[in-house]
Amino acid sequence: MTDMLHCANHPDAETMLRCNRCEKPICGKCAVLTDTGYRCKECIRGQQKSFETAEMIDYPIAFFVAIALSFIGGLIGPRLSFFVILLAPIAGTITAEAVRVAVRRRRAQYLFLTAAAGALVGSLPGLLGQILAFNLLGILWYGIYSSIVTSTVYYRLRGMVFKR
Ligand SMILES: [Zn+2]
Ligand SMILES: [Zn+2]
Repeated sequence: MTDMLHCANHPDAETMLRCNRCEKPICGKCAVLTDTGYRCKECIRGQQKSFETAEMIDYPIAFFVAIALSFIGGLIGPRLSFFVILLAPIAGTITAEAVRVAVRRRRAQYLFLTAAAGALVGSLPGLLGQILAFNLLGILWYGIYSSIVTSTVYYRLRGMVFKR
């Protein structure tokens, strides 16, 4: 009598492998080699799912938080004419930090792009208003605000990538 196990999915298949997560015996067909050893397909699927949902929720959160704060900053910043150059980086920093807190410091790969896009979208209504009003100076200040807020959010959050 050997100490052979039988695969949980294929009772006829003898095996010596166990999933290193759920300890279920798995045959060669069912085993998937990962960085940490052999795992069953169910564990791999479950793992991917929880990883992806944690990430996916962060994108809309980051997007809308960035839109809201960038929009609020846009109501104030460009009215200060050239002081917008000082205020826009602060608005961008606040936006970036708010996004970081909102996603509870989880790290998703393309979050910085989503947040930067949100910051840009949030700053556009103000810019558009100035364009429609043919206010050249207004277009200049709002344009500066849009670009500084967007790039500040981008560079502050870019460091979040891959730091797992
Ligand atoms: Zn397993
Ligand atoms: Zn099997």
